[in-house]
Amino acid sequence: MTTTDVVVIGGGQAGLAAGYHLRRKGLDFVILDAQNTAGGAWQHTWDSLHLFSPAGYSSLPGRLMPVQPGQEYPDAAHVVDYLSDYEQRYSLPVHRPVTVRAVHRDGTRLRVETDAADWSARAVVSATGTWWRPFLPAAPGRETFTGRQLHTTGYRRPSDFAGQRVVVVGGGNSGAQIAADLAAHDGIDLTWVTRRPPRFLADDIDGRALFDAATARRRALDEGRPDSGGVASLGDIVAVPPVRAARDAGLLRTRRMFERLVTDGIRWRDGTTAHADAVIWCTGFRPSLSHLAPLGLRGERGRIATDRTRAAGEPRLHLLGYGDWTGPASATLIGVGRPARDTAESVAGLLDG
Ligand SMILES: Cc1cc2nc3c(=O)[nH]c(=O)nc-3n(C[C@H](O)[C@H](O)[C@H](O)COP(=O)(O)OP(=O)(O)OC[C@H]3O[C@@H](n4cnc5c(N)ncnc54)[C@H](O)[C@@H]3O)c2cc1C
Repeated sequence: MTTTDVVVIGGGQAGLAAGYHLRRKGLDFVILDAQNTAGGAWQHTWDSLHLFSPAGYSSLPGRLMPVQPGQEYPDAAHVVDYLSDYEQRYSLPVHRPVTVRAVHRDGTRLRVETDAADWSARAVVSATGTWWRPFLPAAPGRETFTGRQLHTTGYRRPSDFAGQRVVVVGGGNSGAQIAADLAAHDGIDLTWVTRRPPRFLADDIDGRALFDAATARRRALDEGRPDSGGVASLGDIVAVPPVRAARDAGLLRTRRMFERLVTDGIRWRDGTTAHADAVIWCTGFRPSLSHLAPLGLRGERGRIATDRTRAAGEPRLHLLGYGDWTGPASATLIGVGRPARDTAESVAGLLDG
């Protein structure tokens, strides 16, 4: 077993931002990442995915994301390059591929059990994201459908569905972007299904405004002022250029949620049906926290109760990224910097004490 002050679990953007601030605090740490290469979830998204903010609003602490030539909104490959460069530039001690299986209490320390060597640490920062835990809602008849079913995480490109009838389920950003991707491709018969009519944000709102809204909401709540509703009050779908183009061309009409899947498609409550060769579930994610199960901290919706990023039931554990519940916009590139700094401060205070 190897000993260190801090183990960061996950080497995506959140883990790297934590590393940046832990280094500034002069702490001894490692970052353990399950991927073979740098870039976290950005290595696995669909081919046409672009950020919903310009490069200048998509940066981690210390280093601006360079502009991608010819692209106002950089693509995922550009983010992977940026993260790869980031960890090299700051010589962050990332070990990969290493999968953390479990974190255990071990006297005054935490034992981090992995598929390689185990680590003993005084503090752990979990930054494992959500991509690895796709959420699929209960759906009657799911097992009877003989076509292909996949989640957002399995979608790559429209040509994989050439000539097919495809149902996209979900009214969030992933659903809208994948529906737009498919709709723009000739020969695909698309049905986009949402629980409520899609709520597009105003065309001039991108990730910058979302970050501001999330920050303003956090500030209001911290100061005891009424909840502004944050990002959710503005809408659900950022009208990124391909979504806007498909919507304006009338290609993004939706139908209400169906009642059940049948052998060869879907059926609505009124008995009407649609044939489908594939159903793509764009129905979100849950925090990827199974490695923390031995600590017995799980709360509602698979989350762990936190005071900012520190776990309420285990002061040696911090959670970074995942969603607004660990800091405003902490699951975004620009938003994770601040909670990462707070985390490093909190860990340093703990180790000093
Ligand atoms: C479709 C989509 C579009 C998005 N668009 C934007 C955008 O435009 N702008 C923006 O700022 N944000 C965007 N986001 C949100 C967010 O920036 C990304 O989800 C980002 O990948 C989150 O980074 P992360 O470091 O928290 O998690 P990840 O990128 O998932 O990194 C976590 C890392 O931890 C590793 N890991 C997981 N479990 C273990 C384990 N047990 N042991 C060891 N390692 C482990 C994973 O392999 C991974 O490398 C988008 C998200 C999605 C899903």
